[in-house]
Amino acid sequence: MDREIYMDNAATTRMLPEVLDAMMPYLTDAYHNPSAIYKSTFKVRDAIQRAREQVAAAVNADPDQVFFTSGGTEADNWIIRGCGIDRIITSEIEHKAVLNACKLMAKERGTNTYIVPVDESGMLDMEKFQDKIRRAGWPFLTSVMAANNEIGTIQPLRDIGTLTHQMGGLFHTDAVQAIGAIPIDMLDMHIDFLSMSAHKFHGPKGIGALCCNCSYNLIPKPLIVGGSQQLNMRAGTENVAGIVGMGKAAELAVKDMETRNAKIAALRGKLFELIFENIPDMRLNGTCYCIDRLPNNLSVSFKGVESQQLLAMLDTRGICVSAGSACNAGSVRPSHVLLAIKVPEEYADGTIRFTLGIDTTEDDVTYTANAVAECVKAIREMNA
Ligand code: PLP
Repeated sequence: MDREIYMDNAATTRMLPEVLDAMMPYLTDAYHNPSAIYKSTFKVRDAIQRAREQVAAAVNADPDQVFFTSGGTEADNWIIRGCGIDRIITSEIEHKAVLNACKLMAKERGTNTYIVPVDESGMLDMEKFQDKIRRAGWPFLTSVMAANNEIGTIQPLRDIGTLTHQMGGLFHTDAVQAIGAIPIDMLDMHIDFLSMSAHKFHGPKGIGALCCNCSYNLIPKPLIVGGSQQLNMRAGTENVAGIVGMGKAAELAVKDMETRNAKIAALRGKLFELIFENIPDMRLNGTCYCIDRLPNNLSVSFKGVESQQLLAMLDTRGICVSAGSACNAGSVRPSHVLLAIKVPEEYADGTIRFTLGIDTTEDDVTYTANAVAECVKAIREMNA
């Protein structure tokens, strides 16, 4: 088989064999509907409960307030559309699952969304955050992501949660990129609602959760209605195997977090150094290297390079990475995140995101750095 170097772990991760093993019984013999009442369903219901406890333990949530969803997008939509609060304060670099849900609420309910700017490293401007809260009035919900999917910037969750609570609001964080990457403690960080998605931490796709940490009447009203599953909060027969897989993945994600991430961060550092040494006219996006950045993220921009072209060339060498731009109506536009952190125009189009993972080796890093240097040089020569 051709060599593949996968450096797109922010897009999705490889499911671990232990996770598949845990799921297997629920894809085969233990197929019963958890809502049925005969004794074969005990095993299925127990498995769901255990998974709920595993997910809760990963973020210090109450297992009774973990609600399984179809993924991060549904969890984000659920809180924004179901919280019943018409003043939402959020950041300009949130995932579209949050930003577009806010837009929809503005249209459907006249909800006011207050968008807080970030600085050039992607950090929330805390002063402006406080200003917006004051302007919004009460009651209000703040929704600020734990870590950004493109540039890896980690937000000061405890400060955001504390301020939100001091001013009488509720705090939601989209922690989709953060689980298994940084420690998250809902109680300590004053997080009322948290979104997560299993496929970002070596679990299966199509399963996520909204974890709540609030009094029962503040749990958002259901987004999906129908049967009485999950305490009447999220209708639909549970994705049992997915839930079990997510529970196992959550347990593993926090178990060896520090050692695993130390290794990944060291490899990421090496990749950065090799690229920086060998390619002129490049810049690092996000926070100053290493501080307040996800351990696996490296977002860099190359002057005078079209990322789509670079991506295609790297693909022919077996390297899987992402660009920081999207093709809209035929023209390539930098993402809303790169625009928000004001990446200079001549760099923005040439943005590449490397997200390393548990399988990344030293050899992968050297190979990738060499390939990037060669491809950037070739593109610049072609365009000269
Ligand atoms: N939020 C963030 C920060 C993400 O990175 C993603 C996915 O890339 C999502 C939400 C959506 O998650 P899902 O793919 O589970 O719907």
